Amino acid sequence: MAIIMSGKVMSAALMEEQKEQVADMKLRGIHPGLAVVLVGEDPASQIYVRNKGQACEDAGIYSRTIRLDAAVSQETLMSTIDELNADSRVHGILVQLPLPKHLDEGTILARVKPEKDVDGFHVVNAGRLFTAQHGVVPCTPKGILYMLKKAEVPLSGKHAVIVGRSNIVGKPAAMLLLNENCTVTICHSRTQDLPSIARQADVLVAAVGRPKFITADMVKPGAAVVDVGINRVDGRLVGDVDFDNAEKVAGWITPVPGGVGKMTISMLLQNTLEAACRQAL
Ligand code: NDP
Repeated sequence: MAIIMSGKVMSAALMEEQKEQVADMKLRGIHPGLAVVLVGEDPASQIYVRNKGQACEDAGIYSRTIRLDAAVSQETLMSTIDELNADSRVHGILVQLPLPKHLDEGTILARVKPEKDVDGFHVVNAGRLFTAQHGVVPCTPKGILYMLKKAEVPLSGKHAVIVGRSNIVGKPAAMLLLNENCTVTICHSRTQDLPSIARQADVLVAAVGRPKFITADMVKPGAAVVDVGINRVDGRLVGDVDFDNAEKVAGWITPVPGGVGKMTISMLLQNTLEAACRQAL
């Protein structure tokens, strides 16, 4: 049976460290702050935003949610971001995605100052990751690496296979693992014979968005399996990995729920604290 890499356990431990870190920062006159911009009424986004606000409160981080109407103009959203860019109480700005179709996501994300871009989605931060320079790393991939390292999964020289090539998960996860000296393969919907590639993985990351896409026969015995997927099936959350069968083959595995999702919020707080420290210099 695989070792369970529990995001629930790891994020709870990290929260205690973050509370201490915030208390220490406040003694030095730094009061970390996060602003979340929520456009429209998407139910899933509302839950995510509420969870992020609650996590900030738990850690002692000042947080603000700016709610804008679904029909907000691009100009109004841009000027909201400008105000937050100029607000010294706000060290991190997060624009909750997805945005309504009439808004140009790329232009909006590029408006956030790179040093306040705690999601790590700005092209400047993406470029820094690509060139192995210090920048803000997107929360979900950062959480994946945190879990692998915490569980002491060997990475250097190992074959990491990432299934999914999105800008927010697949590609940055691949870059992070490459920077850890993994040999990296990225798979996507046009990949031929994905199962045989997956079976070569020492580290297998599933970021597809399809329930139980990764079956036990696609897992190399002893591999570390990271399940990023969040799928709702019959009112239940399930990942991209057939957990019950894959855990019999894998060496390490993350559950859903209670896995990567928990770490994503932890890493958002971490990015906010790091941004606040850098901005205080
Ligand atoms: P995207 O939809 O942006 O990307 C999905 C990727 O999977 C694409 O690259 C796509 O390939 C690939 N894919 C789809 N179908 C197949 C297939 N049949 N075979 C091989 N590859 C396939 O999703 P995200 O990266 O944003 O998210 C992935 C999952 O992770 C979702 O379930 C999402 O909800 C979850 N998620 C979880 C987070 C967390 O905190 N735990 C955070 C963010 C996302 P192609 O590019 O060719 O279309």
